[in-house]
Amino acid sequence: MAKITMAQGAGGERMQEFIREFVLKELDHDFGEIPLAALDDAAIIDGIAFTTDSYTVKPLFFPGGDIGVLSVAGTVNDLAVMGATPIALSCAMIIQEGFPGDDLHKIMKSISTTAKKAGVRIVTGDTKVVEKNAMDGLFINTSGVGKRSEYLDHNIREVRRFRKFKWDWPNDSAVGDGDVLIASGPLGNHGVAILSFREGYGFETTVKSDAAPLNRLIAAGLKVGGITAMKDPTRGGLSNLLNEWADKSGIGIVVREEDIPIDDPVLSACEMLGIDPLEVGNEGKVIIAAAPEDADGVLKAVRTRPEGRKAQIIGHATKGIRGVMMETHTGGKRIIEPPVGDPVPRIC
Ligand code: MG
Repeated sequence: MAKITMAQGAGGERMQEFIREFVLKELDHDFGEIPLAALDDAAIIDGIAFTTDSYTVKPLFFPGGDIGVLSVAGTVNDLAVMGATPIALSCAMIIQEGFPGDDLHKIMKSISTTAKKAGVRIVTGDTKVVEKNAMDGLFINTSGVGKRSEYLDHNIREVRRFRKFKWDWPNDSAVGDGDVLIASGPLGNHGVAILSFREGYGFETTVKSDAAPLNRLIAAGLKVGGITAMKDPTRGGLSNLLNEWADKSGIGIVVREEDIPIDDPVLSACEMLGIDPLEVGNEGKVIIAAAPEDADGVLKAVRTRPEGRKAQIIGHATKGIRGVMMETHTGGKRIIEPPVGDPVPRIC
């Protein structure tokens, strides 16, 4: 019998196959408005958004954040990208015997600060301690529930002014012909920050993780309206995100290399390591698809938020091609394939 590999947890194509083979097959996966089978960022059940995520990042503390920030921001963002307003989170911790109490205090402080920033509360939880060799330091799982955003009805009405739209929630399958794609800021910072701090890599860089809750930025976009899909480019980065959208929405996607925001230190670190910045994970960025008539308004609104100051239009969806294509700096064309594994494992 085959054994589970790191690639199957890496967020790329292997993980999708793995989930289909091991998880969906055994479960009733069609329950809800956006069911488990959609493999979207959160499920929508009776008008409630519900999601869960486990955090196994290594190291636990890194430039710009720690596992506490991630465990709140990641779950908040998975609710927010569905058009939900996050209400409450659970927090379950599995702690290795011998773990430093001071570190745990710091991590709990981060959890509390990040929850306040996002306006959510941790309302239930669990702690377990296991023997030294049973695991590695600390793992956290958070689940979150969210209610329909107060701006979502307006947002969907705005989409329907311009075209037929059968969805009541933005989702991975709802990207339509002509939709304009907006990145909320520079990509690749989180993955590179983690790598720079990891044993064995240890290179000098000023890059900090972007880990942050995005629910307020997303609310600003929904208030304008016309948003059809949103997603956070976490594991597998932008490449994975665009391929998931292209696949689930049955649409082609074209992006322009010169419009994709990437900070210079991230570019040079990726060059040095031989990894593609488009495949590196982010924890404080969102890609938004919006009806062309609304895209400029959404972009403007996103830019009013400090975490969206460097937002850019990066491309559009089109029936004209299949898959994901990038117009390069040199005027060429490059197919963007979904990453098979992950250039940076255990980034979240
Ligand atoms: Mg997500």
